[in-house]
Amino acid sequence: MLKIGSHVGMKGKEMMLGSAKEASSYGANTFMIFTGAPQNTKRKPITELKIDEAWEYMNAHGISEPVIHAPYIINLGNSIHTETYTLAAEFLAADMERAAAMGSHTLVLHPGSHVGAGADTGIRQIARGLNEVLSKNSPCHIALETMAGKGSEIGRNFEELAAIFDQVVYNDKLRICLDTCHMHDSGYDIVHDFDGVIEKLDRLIGKDRVSVIHVNDSKNPCGAGKDRHANIGKGYIGLEALYAIVHHPDFADVPKILETPYCPLADNPSKTAPPYKEEIAMLKKASSTLHEGSSVLRQFMSV
Ligand code: FE
Ligand code: FE
Ligand code: ZN
Repeated sequence: MLKIGSHVGMKGKEMMLGSAKEASSYGANTFMIFTGAPQNTKRKPITELKIDEAWEYMNAHGISEPVIHAPYIINLGNSIHTETYTLAAEFLAADMERAAAMGSHTLVLHPGSHVGAGADTGIRQIARGLNEVLSKNSPCHIALETMAGKGSEIGRNFEELAAIFDQVVYNDKLRICLDTCHMHDSGYDIVHDFDGVIEKLDRLIGKDRVSVIHVNDSKNPCGAGKDRHANIGKGYIGLEALYAIVHHPDFADVPKILETPYCPLADNPSKTAPPYKEEIAMLKKASSTLHEGSSVLRQFMSV
């Protein structure tokens, strides 16, 4: 069965239970969360995350394989400000504990940015950090996300990710998170040749290492190096290509996570709302009915 969900919140009193309820309201059977605000490293203790209550709810509603995303601000690639690197390594180790306690197998990580030191130095620093954090008893996997290549981001191509794998001792703990918007923006032609792109990945790292797919359209043409997510079918990747990726037989068991932007409402454009229920329904459809109706996003404006 297709495993599809979206990024959801985790906040307030209900914490992970609230995340599960939000996912269920979208018709999702999986979801992705940050363990707290993505812009900071302040975190609640594991005992306050409502994990048991969440799993009781998830089991009753057919939701499984929650994915955890490490915060954007941690940068293992920083070899210039070593306190940034140290903070990143410490936080990552703690987030792995939280992810495992939440019953997740996968912590998604943006590999990092070299902040001017050059890609090779950045890659070495990231591998050094992962070697500090990973052991043969690590409680979950770290999935390195394919990046768009904006700024000095590492992970803009499979070669850079493969170089990290090569330098990590316990690289059996590493996985890959494919982000469709990022791959497209970094120059991989996933619209016309997804199979060719995957063949390349398979040669360098192994396609069996893919453990999450972020499903996003892109506001920019292939190779733009930008990283601006668009709603499904509303960008340069398009509905057909994204549909084919979501239903690709090689990744049948891999959770697919939407990270598309909130949309302004048709009847009140100053308000935005998550489009995930509609986008999940759209991607779950039988392929023969893909273009029935003008758009399931009708309740929204200008998407
Ligand atoms: Fe990400
Ligand atoms: Fe992503
Ligand atoms: Zn992105």
